[in-house]
Amino acid sequence: MKKSKNKKVLELDPMRVKIAEGIIANPKEFKVCDGCDSILLRDVPICPLCSHYRFNTDIEEIIKQTNVLLHSEPKCMMDSSLTERKIWSDKK
Ligand SMILES: [Zn+2]
Repeated sequence: MKKSKNKKVLELDPMRVKIAEGIIANPKEFKVCDGCDSILLRDVPICPLCSHYRFNTDIEEIIKQTNVLLHSEPKCMMDSSLTERKIWSDKK
């Protein structure tokens, strides 16, 4: 009956929230990489992280993944440069 998972309230980085809001407001401009679950701009042909070229363009999936990334540990190094690198991911 012991909870092994540390329940820590994650403070949301305003920058991450801003990115997430932008994606949720306009999910048609984004897609989710099938390989690594990163969110990319729709016009990116190949995932720069995992070289995958298959993407999920389902709006619900994009929004779901946006929330996952928003609430994941802030290990993403690309948050501040989504538009520059056209990707948002929690992968290194
Ligand atoms: Zn990928």
